[in-house]
Amino acid sequence: MIDKYKDLPQEEITDMMNDVIGKGFTCYIKWTCENCGERATSNTPNTFFTEGYIHEDCGHTTYPTKFGLVVTKCL
Ligand SMILES: [Zn+2]
Repeated sequence: MIDKYKDLPQEEITDMMNDVIGKGFTCYIKWTCENCGERATSNTPNTFFTEGYIHEDCGHTTYPTKFGLVVTKCL
């Protein structure tokens, strides 16, 4: 897993997702949990959620305004 991008707003991150998915990569949204401050990664590939992100370690739902992207190169 390579975390190659810095956090970006929704519009830019969804554009980037479409780009990497179109190139055959798999990507996962990353965000910063507002409860514990840790970086969290979505378990659902190639999906952007608008209804919030649950950090499974602490159970807190965050509604981020900036997102990171983890891109996996394996198929
Ligand atoms: Zn958390």
